[in-house]
Formats: sequence, structure tokens, C-alpha cells
Amino acid sequence: MKYACKNCNFRFEKDVDVEVMKCPYCNRYEAFRERSAEELLEEED
Ligand SMILES: [Zn+2]
Repeated sequence: MKYACKNCNFRFEKDVDVEVMKCPYCNRYEAFRERSAEELLEEED
């Protein structure tokens, strides 16, 4: 899973699949999972 921090824009990858996790750069819980293109397409249904 790829994550991007809303606070500092730091991007990283983790094997865990959660909605939001702690950013290893700024240590704030503002790193949100980046959804794949497939997931975004499904949402338009
Ligand atoms: Zn951060």
C-alpha cells in the first residue's frame, strides 16, 4: 500500500492496509492510503 502524508507530503509504502497511519517523517497521524486507479474507477459506479 502507498501512503501520502497530508501534513508534510512525505510518501512511503507499507504492507499494512489501513485508511490512515502515522507518518514516519513528521510522526503525525495524517498519512492517508493512496487508492489505486482501479479503486477510483469502482467508486464511480
Ligand atoms: Zn508527515
